[in-house]
Formats: sequence, structure tokens, C-alpha cells
Amino acid sequence: TDNNEIYGIAVAIEDLTELKRLETVRQEFFNNVSHEIRTPLASIKAMSETLTSDSISNPAEQHDFLNRITSEVDHLTELIEEFRMLSNVESGSLPVTTREVTLQNLVAATINRLQAHADTKNLQIIYAEESEDLYVEIDPIRFQQILTNLLENAIKYTEPPGSVTIITNVNGKTANVSVTDTGIGIASEHVTRIFERLYKVDSSRNSSGSGLGLAIAKHLVHTQGGHISVESRLGHGSTFQFSLPVL
Ligand code: ADP
Repeated sequence: TDNNEIYGIAVAIEDLTELKRLETVRQEFFNNVSHEIRTPLASIKAMSETLTSDSISNPAEQHDFLNRITSEVDHLTELIEEFRMLSNVESGSLPVTTREVTLQNLVAATINRLQAHADTKNLQIIYAEESEDLYVEIDPIRFQQILTNLLENAIKYTEPPGSVTIITNVNGKTANVSVTDTGIGIASEHVTRIFERLYKVDSSRNSSGSGLGLAIAKHLVHTQGGHISVESRLGHGSTFQFSLPVL
């Protein structure tokens, strides 16, 4: 009937719009990727050219240049590792392997790995553990990856004297984890976008970030059927919260 034809056309147009939107997203992503890689490469090239031109004779200054080159290379390596991780997560090629664990032990192990980092920044990590063991069937590697990304950010975006507080609980078949920091916070206009790939609030406030950490965390949470969200006030700190279904 006529109605059906009109309906068909409307659907086709909608599909094209969606295709166009996806194409724009893809293009934007690759532009951002190129930018992320080109910036450190340009500074590595500039610094190595300066060194080979013998225009710096002061050994301390030469040493400083070499250190900065090394740190740019480290940053690139980390970036590539994060791209690999994101691509694995998005393509679903990372198998979910669950195991029975105590939630408190898993959180404590994650904190342990970041404790030295928090100590050097003079930040306190507080974990108010429940006295009762929370047994859950969960993918421990994914869980640690999500929590690590949130904790790394909490430490990165908090100035001393500050703290990072972790709260966990299990409610029926859902494990809930929150990470609250007393850091710089995120303005409301950015909050809706920070889980996007490569999105950074302000590239000047932290040049070492890739803008991929939260995108990876979001995908890891979603592929397990969970939720992740954030509440933040600029200048007052942020709370990231995620929930995962557990058995
Ligand atoms: P990055 O590698 O830049 O930290 P993320 O994807 O982990 O990338 O985070 C995206 C952006 O969200 C960051 O650039 C930062 O501006 C903001 N952000 C993330 N976590 C926090 C936090 N705990 N406090 C303040 N800002 C945060």
C-alpha cells in the first residue's frame, strides 16, 4: 500500500542518516588518533634534531632532552597499548572468564598496585571494607582493569592533601563499586562526554592522558551487562560508580 511505501522511504533515509553519523564519528576518531600520535612524534623529532645539530653543548641540558624523548616514547607505547585494549574490548575478542572471588580481596589487590603512586602524590586511599566477605562470581581481570582506570584517574586529577574513597557492596545479584575523589572535578558540560574515545576535558590540564581510559572502562562494564556513571562538581571532586551483574 501507499502507506507501506512511505514507511519504507522513511526508514531508508533514517538508515542513511545513521550511516552518515557513523562515518563522521569514524572520521573524527581517526583524526584524533592521528593528532594524538603526531604531537609526541613532532616533539621527539624536534628534540632529536636539536641534539644532532650540536647546538646544545651543556650535558645537563642534553640529558634533559633525552629524558623528555624517552618519556614521549613511553607515552606513545602506552597509547598503542590502550588502543589495542580498546579494540579488543570493542570487537568482543576478549573472552569473559569468571571465577569466584571475594570482592574485598580483589579491590584490595587493585589498591595495592596503585598505592605507591598515591603515596608519591601524598594522597590517601581509603577503603571502608564490609566486615562480611562478599563472595562473587566475576571476571577478576576485567574488574581490576575497570577499577584501575578509575583509581588512576582519581589519583591523577586530585591534588594533595586529598583522598580517594572506595565503597563496595553487593545487592542481590549486583556488585556496586564507587570511587570518590576530592579532586578538581569535571564541569557539567563535559560530564556527558568523558566516556567517549579520546575525549579529554582540557588537554592542557593533563598532557599525559590519552582520553581512552574511561572509554575502555565503559566498554568493559557494558560487555558484562553493567552500568557506569559519574557525578561531579568542578573544584569539589568526582564520584564514579559502576555496577556489574554477579552470580
Ligand atoms: P585520560 O587518559 O585523559 O585521563 P580518560 O578517558 O581516563 O582519559 O578520562 C577522560 C577525561 O575525563 C580526562 O581527560 C579528565 O579530564 C576527565 N576525568 C576523568 N576522571 C576524572 C576525575 N576523577 N576527576 C576529574 N576529571 C576526570
